[in-house]
Amino acid sequence: MQIINHMYIDGEFVSPHGTATLDITSPVSQELLGKVSLGDEVDTQRAIAAAKAAFTTFSRTTRDERIQYLRQMLEAVTKRKEDLIDVMVLEYGAPIQFACASAQNALDAIRTNVDILEVYAFEQRVGRSTVQQTPVGVVGIITPWNASNGFICSKLSTALAAGCTAVIKPSELSALQTQLISECLHEAGLPKGIFNIVNGLGHVVGAEIVRHPDVAKISFTGSTVTGKTIIREGAATMKRVTLELGGKSPNILLDDADLSKAIPLSVAGAFMNSGQACIAATRLLVPQHKLEEIKPLLIEAESGIKVGNPQEEDTNIGPMVSQKQFQRVQDYILKGIAEGAEILIGGLEKPEGLEAGNFVKPTVFIHVNNSMRIAQEEIFGPVLSVITYRTEEEAIQLANDSSYGLAAYVQSSNQERALQIATRLDAGRVSLNALTHDPMAPFGGFKQSGLGREYGVFDLEAYLEPKAILEVENA
Ligand code: NAD
Repeated sequence: MQIINHMYIDGEFVSPHGTATLDITSPVSQELLGKVSLGDEVDTQRAIAAAKAAFTTFSRTTRDERIQYLRQMLEAVTKRKEDLIDVMVLEYGAPIQFACASAQNALDAIRTNVDILEVYAFEQRVGRSTVQQTPVGVVGIITPWNASNGFICSKLSTALAAGCTAVIKPSELSALQTQLISECLHEAGLPKGIFNIVNGLGHVVGAEIVRHPDVAKISFTGSTVTGKTIIREGAATMKRVTLELGGKSPNILLDDADLSKAIPLSVAGAFMNSGQACIAATRLLVPQHKLEEIKPLLIEAESGIKVGNPQEEDTNIGPMVSQKQFQRVQDYILKGIAEGAEILIGGLEKPEGLEAGNFVKPTVFIHVNNSMRIAQEEIFGPVLSVITYRTEEEAIQLANDSSYGLAAYVQSSNQERALQIATRLDAGRVSLNALTHDPMAPFGGFKQSGLGREYGVFDLEAYLEPKAILEVENA
């Protein structure tokens, strides 16, 4: 059992002022894995003060110095890549396949920031002025549990690339993952105070970061509900915000799609990270006249999906992160049944032999109407809603009929046709015939899926304030 009773402030591990603790339990067995001490407002204020003090010097570092720091960070995190994978699997039951991809994404994000920093123009002439891109200040980084260290690596490396310093509040469900990343970042030998990490609850530590006048910007990934609170609470101090929120992503299967590839891809897209992914393709839009053909293919694809121990290489779906999340998924399955949708695969209760953990049955609903709650609300579990359409126009209309707009997917044997559809979808990222990631391309949501973009130059500029310097010649 691991006892985590420190925070990371001003370059060292320190005891918290807060006295509350939280149990860390295995989602596979409910066994107690550890205990974490939770920080309070005083711990948060200390971390903010350290970041503020460090900003004075760090904001004036050269590009080359910051490239060197990012390289140190990359090297330190790379050394612990296998540990990063293991702890994700242990702590929240991420299937190892997903954990490997997530760890790689974390490293790619740091590397990408080095590449961008090497060429980015921090100063340019615009009109008759010089425009300098200056670091925005202390950044509050608030992350969810589903790829905690990946988000910390991408957000922190971008903040540092810009010359900002940071206070990080990871999810309270990620204490073991946080301990590991704290060790990596400590090993990296970065200047004191440029990053600080406070374990704690959202309404305590997170809220203090959001309301504190010395924090200039919040970079948040999490639910839409919390994102709205952050905008409201941050308004008093005019916080800059980048919000990466929830999704209910449509996957349009066009009538010319090769079903032998498209159906397995659709199932993999819906159930990625056990369905606990913001970009999961949870609404599958299929031509009405193809539904009967598609049903047995869905059943076949699902029969190849293994639910079980996330440590096993061939496991596709692990447990839900918590008992609360398990119950949430059950409640949505009940809602789907009550609303009149039909279960094609899966359903209520735990899969046989997996009763000890927070496991759910991967579930596919057919005869779903897009206005049903299972089609409109983010479930965050392996539940796929199949919705039929008659025309391409109707498919686009259904895809866009959502309060979310994070990701979308189009599948067709005609790439040009898929591209035409993509241009009409209200989503921050549209993938054609694939489930891929591009660390250089902007990522973020339309509508209630967020505000702003992460990754690449779009992200860096969200940590910079443009300052125009106007000079009058011969003044
Ligand atoms: P959550 O919103 O409950 O919590 C996210 C973080 O916010 C946690 O660290 C939490 O402690 C903190 N928090 C909670 N209340 C707060 C407050 N009042 N002030 C400040 N911070 C507060 O989300 P979660 O359950 O951890 O994660 C799942 C959600 O995250 C899903 O909705 C998912 O779609 C979303 N998500 C989005 C992306 C994306 O890139 N768009 C990626 C992953 C997850």
